[in-house]
Amino acid sequence: MKSSPVLFDLSSIGSPIELLGMNREELELFFVQLGEKPFRAHQVLKWVHKHGVMEFAAMTDLSKALRARLADLCTLRVPQAVRGQTSRDGTCKWLLKLPDGNCIETVFIPEERRGTVCVSSQVGCALRCAFCATARQGFSRNLTAAEIVGQLWYACRQLGENQITNVVLMGMGEPLLNFDAVVSACAIMMDDLAYGLAKRRVTISTAGLVPAIDRLSEASSASLAVSLHATTDELRNDLVPLNRKYPLASLLAACRRFALAPKQRGRKITFEYVMLAGVNDSQADARRLVKLLSTIPSKINLIPFNPFPGIPFQRSTPEAIERFWEILTKAGFLVTVRRPRGEDIAAACGQLVGEVKNPPKGQAQMALGAA
Ligand code: SAH
Repeated sequence: MKSSPVLFDLSSIGSPIELLGMNREELELFFVQLGEKPFRAHQVLKWVHKHGVMEFAAMTDLSKALRARLADLCTLRVPQAVRGQTSRDGTCKWLLKLPDGNCIETVFIPEERRGTVCVSSQVGCALRCAFCATARQGFSRNLTAAEIVGQLWYACRQLGENQITNVVLMGMGEPLLNFDAVVSACAIMMDDLAYGLAKRRVTISTAGLVPAIDRLSEASSASLAVSLHATTDELRNDLVPLNRKYPLASLLAACRRFALAPKQRGRKITFEYVMLAGVNDSQADARRLVKLLSTIPSKINLIPFNPFPGIPFQRSTPEAIERFWEILTKAGFLVTVRRPRGEDIAAACGQLVGEVKNPPKGQAQMALGAA
């Protein structure tokens, strides 16, 4: 084993070490530092994520002494639900309270043959996309890996593990602005000792943070979704202001590189396209989209816009969506139209707002600056 930096301050009485967000590698290192065998990590991963056990005392295949030591040094804090709502269509939305009092939203979308948990990655969001409700509340902070995977932990306990087949990081926030925590949480989601989700079934969605897309192709085997929403820089600058920093040509070049990465072999990138009436839903837009994506292994997900109070956009008509769909399909793309789900409980895409406490001023800029 290569010599590793001291990661955990084992002497830090009073600030317990959070184990919930540690992936296999980190946990193994932690146990080695405790003077234990690395496979203790495997036992703890199973207890926590497979069986939902949060009491060290109940982890009966660890020695009593080790259990006592863990209880002394460590903590396993899961989010607390302050509200749970179920839509007429079966979609569930939970408002989860974090230890610092901030709240985030997590959604479960049941479908005939799959069940998807939509997970948040930040409290609020810094990106200010023109059509998104989360943007309105500003940015407060990144979630920790524990808080990200904690949402899946919570959903599993509520629903049972076999209800959940997919995870999408499409809740509040921009996942790639919280890179390390997101990658680590996704590793736990895909670990057979924890949730065991296939890499095709864990999807990270980004508004297009080019350098982070390149890093992601090395760091994770999770799937990628890109929120495109426009086919010209002029329009995309308005809808997704991040485009001013990373315009379409550079974003699509990064997507091309991503699709070629060894960890991604044979997989397609999902391009999300929100359908806004009279804004980006013309036949000319559809034809431009065909051209832009012609050299990238892609599938396209059309998202009928979900309105919320005070927003100047409207959802495209079913006819406009169908016409758009037809042009893309005839060009050979796999195109799905996302059925709006959970609208009656404001759980649909772009409607998640959580509750943000005192967004610190200037942090949004900082978060972007570091991108
Ligand atoms: N920041 C990430 C993930 C969050 S949003 C990203 O941009 O990809 C998940 C998807 O919902 C994105 O494609 C986003 O653009 C879309 N979305 C946001 N607001 C929406 C709304 N009001 N109606 C429909 N889709 C919306």
